[in-house]
Amino acid sequence: MSGSGGKKSTGINGAQIRAEARRLGFSFCGMARNEPLEDLRALYTRLIQRKGPAGLKYLETYLEKRLNPELILKGARSVIAVMMNYYPQDEIPGTGNFIISKYAYGRDYHLLMRERLGLLIAFLKSITADLSGRESEDSGPVYDLHARAFVDSGPVLEKAWAQRCGLGWQGKNTLVIHPLAGSFFFIGIILTTLELEPDAPESDHCGSCEKCIKACPTGALDTPYQLDIRRCISYLTIESKEEIPVELKGKLKDRIYGCDICQDVCPYNRFAVPNGIPEFDPSEPLMQMRKKEWLSLTEADFDRMFAATPVKRMGYARLMRNIRAASQ
Ligand code: SF4
Ligand code: SF4
Repeated sequence: MSGSGGKKSTGINGAQIRAEARRLGFSFCGMARNEPLEDLRALYTRLIQRKGPAGLKYLETYLEKRLNPELILKGARSVIAVMMNYYPQDEIPGTGNFIISKYAYGRDYHLLMRERLGLLIAFLKSITADLSGRESEDSGPVYDLHARAFVDSGPVLEKAWAQRCGLGWQGKNTLVIHPLAGSFFFIGIILTTLELEPDAPESDHCGSCEKCIKACPTGALDTPYQLDIRRCISYLTIESKEEIPVELKGKLKDRIYGCDICQDVCPYNRFAVPNGIPEFDPSEPLMQMRKKEWLSLTEADFDRMFAATPVKRMGYARLMRNIRAASQ
């Protein structure tokens, strides 16, 4: 059977995969045919040639794999993209407090998403195994499925694939925005040798809006659709190993881990609904933290409070660097 196209296909029903993805806690799931992303080569080459921070060097190293998933999974025919909601029920109180990004409130999403993507791959294998049994009785094709999952890992252009899989478009703030649900989502990708009926890619609905560009406190979005990570609070507080530039310290506005400003102002995020995933809820001690507690946080407190959260990955020293910078 097929997806909607009616041609002879693998017999895998996209609706079955979507239903299983939903059961596993993914809000949305889409599919695209795997093909080289040659149309993005010029953009990435330009970004690399800018000779920016070390982060872009990584881009250069794996550029060919990023542009051609066949180099990551031989025989990959399809890409599956999923989105998992992380919009919280309640924000951590902001008054008299430092601010951490909403995505870091609870359990490390890498762990949770990898587990769930593993279960989705197991599901793909189970339905293809059933099908192989049926097909081989009729001397039809026997499916030998290979698949790999990625969550912010490996040389995969997650946002570009999410758009191709029809889940949203990359807005002027460079994030993937679902037209009916906004952008507070983690993205996961599965490359697979299965042939699946592709969804239609999503188109850009930013229109004349410039809210994110105007709201960004550091000018990191001055070129729409291109994030200048050297000025982005998310990059500076999470990824960068350097001191936060003096001229930007005053613009942190109490942010010590990430920044949600360009999402908070996006009109599409008025559609955001609480994630309903208990693992993403902030712990009670984290809800109780205020500036005084942050300033006196010990390494032992840090280890206890942030075990298995995204903040733990950054390490105590970098968090304290950010707290000092935000306090100036
Ligand atoms: S995360 Fe913050 S600093 Fe970075 S682009 Fe968005 S608003 Fe600007
Ligand atoms: S704030 Fe406006 S311009 Fe920015 S991403 Fe959202 S819709 Fe697009």
